[in-house]
Amino acid sequence: MSQTSLIGFTGADVPDAGVINSCVHCGLCLPTCPTYRATSLEMSSPRGRIYLMRAVAEGAASIDNDVFVGQIGECLNCRACEAVCPSGVQYGSILEASRAQVQRLRAGEIKEAGPAHAMGAGERLIRGIVFNQLFKKMGLFRAFSALMRLYQLTGLQALARKLGIIRLFGMADAERMLPRMSPRFVTPHGQVYEAIGERRYRVALLSGCIMSTAFANIHEATIRVLRRNACQVVIPPEQGCCGALHTHGGDLEGGRELARRNIAAFEAAGLDLVDAIIVNAAGCGSTLKEYGHLLAGDPVWEARAKAFAAKIKDVHEFLVSIPLNTADLRPLPLRVTYQEPCHLAHAQRITAQPRKLLAAIPQLQLLEMAESALCCGSAGIYNVTQPEMAAVLGARKVDNATATGADVVATANPGCALQLAAELGKRGSPMHVRWIVELLDEAYGPAQPLT
Ligand code: SF4
Ligand code: SF4
Repeated sequence: MSQTSLIGFTGADVPDAGVINSCVHCGLCLPTCPTYRATSLEMSSPRGRIYLMRAVAEGAASIDNDVFVGQIGECLNCRACEAVCPSGVQYGSILEASRAQVQRLRAGEIKEAGPAHAMGAGERLIRGIVFNQLFKKMGLFRAFSALMRLYQLTGLQALARKLGIIRLFGMADAERMLPRMSPRFVTPHGQVYEAIGERRYRVALLSGCIMSTAFANIHEATIRVLRRNACQVVIPPEQGCCGALHTHGGDLEGGRELARRNIAAFEAAGLDLVDAIIVNAAGCGSTLKEYGHLLAGDPVWEARAKAFAAKIKDVHEFLVSIPLNTADLRPLPLRVTYQEPCHLAHAQRITAQPRKLLAAIPQLQLLEMAESALCCGSAGIYNVTQPEMAAVLGARKVDNATATGADVVATANPGCALQLAAELGKRGSPMHVRWIVELLDEAYGPAQPLT
């Protein structure tokens, strides 16, 4: 621990004392916490972390103490604790504000603090490029994604892996998580896809960052499924990354910048003209639904953020509500288990709808895995920042998934899909990772090119 005098929370984005103090320390959240389950340590539990936040807020501990910084980093922000808390503690909000404080500390913005937790020049450079350039400039992001596709297609990736070059730079684990790029990107430019048959809804699609490049095939499947369900689908231009990685990591200003851009883009396309803004990635959906909170107190943007957030629908939530067109679904004789993304199950409290959609597919057998809602260890860039804990949780998840004897593990978030595929690949398992919308799309019949 640093020898400096006690330093509390300072500046903007301080964890709300009212939220911290609403924890009554009952401990009901402990069994749901993946890091507590893995370590059995009180300080690695939600209650322990709230104690630490309170100690810093009340001046009993300094923000630059190793335990506080370590635990704020080790938390997955999976929000399993929040979903079960009888006192309604909004854990995600105080965790993200604590991370914003730790970011200030690490960036050297808290002058009283020593250098113990300062970000190194390399990390500063990489974070600057990734978070301030790539994720904020979609043209650049798509150009980078195209380069990654070339890297994968030309055999350079296989060669670099074989020669151990990536391991030499200590990047083997991070590189293993690099998604296989989709052959086509979904670049938003105001596309309109008509409903197949009678049109009853008009919806807009969030294209996002990684979903529009590495997972563009999932966007295509989502569009086809929506069209089969009486929806005209529009993709407004000028939209971009939702800011989930920024917000969940504590760069709240970065998240706000991206939120304002998306709100303006969807407003320009006519917010009142659509029944819903559809999101097919759990982490993006929960972030967009919380734009009102992110921009609270902003006289220009708060009301607009709330109006925007009110339109957000997770694709599974939406399809079940309209309800799903089951008449055109063909049999898919597969044994499928479902891995629940944390930001769908805990942050959005959507648990029944994904299962209902899977159960609607004829001949698809849904086999429940143990601990389906326990975090798989992906959690944004967690597998890069906390590789040991991420590996423990990834292995536990795949143990549970494979124990069902299913052919397929279905999920609904890019991070989960990558984490599961990496762990299954490492084991040489024949189990496939599929998205629920992808299975629905397949059940609706052979995929037609989008027109
Ligand atoms: S966060 Fe909620 S469930 Fe956990 S100890 Fe506090 S009051 Fe209890
Ligand atoms: S967010 Fe998840 S990892 Fe963090 S304290 Fe809550 S349950 Fe534990």
